[in-house]
Amino acid sequence: MAEDMQINPQRAKQLAENVASISSRISAASKGGQQVRLIAVSKLKPANDILSLHQSPNPLHTHFGENYVQELLEKSKLLPRSIRWHMIGGLQSNKCKQLAEQIPNLWCVSSVDSEKKANELEKGRKALLEKQEDAAKLRIMVQVNTSGEEAKSGVEPSDALSLCQHVVDKCPHLQLTGLMTIGAIARSKETTPENENEDFVCLRETRDKVAKELGWEEGRLELSMGMSSDFEGAIGQGSSEVRVGSDIFGERPLKKDAVVKDAAAEEKS
Ligand SMILES: *Cc1c(COP(=O)(O)O)cnc(C)c1O
Repeated sequence: MAEDMQINPQRAKQLAENVASISSRISAASKGGQQVRLIAVSKLKPANDILSLHQSPNPLHTHFGENYVQELLEKSKLLPRSIRWHMIGGLQSNKCKQLAEQIPNLWCVSSVDSEKKANELEKGRKALLEKQEDAAKLRIMVQVNTSGEEAKSGVEPSDALSLCQHVVDKCPHLQLTGLMTIGAIARSKETTPENENEDFVCLRETRDKVAKELGWEEGRLELSMGMSSDFEGAIGQGSSEVRVGSDIFGERPLKKDAVVKDAAAEEKS
């Protein structure tokens, strides 16, 4: 449990400074009343790092993003229930039910790209709500493949509406909250406040169309776009949520070298 997980004070200080610096860059990039949520992407980083940023009674940060179901399940068991988890990585249908049922504080799944996956998430959250009435509906975002790259997951922009409609009509235990894209790396690197990113233009246009067809106000569908290399540009183009990993936690280890509990950090502190 979190109580016996050690925190390295130097590491904790560094992480807190990194989050503060990203947060002030977010504020500087956002206009007027634009609210932008920061997801700290902690995939492949130890649970100790997350706890460093989320210590009671006054946690510095609450929204964390993970990419792998098994890793998220393990971390969610070790860490406080007050964390709001976001599953942002590629989904497999056969793990969706478990994901939605076993992590009550899973706040959002941002990478839904098929009716089958939506249906499995629906089953899982329905089962959780039957056991635990105070649990919330599971927020979901539809991932859109805005760059047309074969290796990227996500629905084609022209298929976003029918998947959104499916969630709204057929998944009463899910709540559609927005659209998400990753985009092409090359475009991401060229994104500046002056140089619009085509992937972000595409996501915004897709959102506007979907909202119109659903008869919703545009603001009811969030835009999750922007990562370490391009979040300021994404905010300039209307992002409501940025997902920042390496600029907060540093470079990630290879998946095979990743550890959920950092024993070295425990010995040092
Ligand atoms: C890893 C990841 C991020 C964070 O990327 P950084 O470049 O480290 O900020 C954001 N979104 C998704 C979907 C990711 O998989």
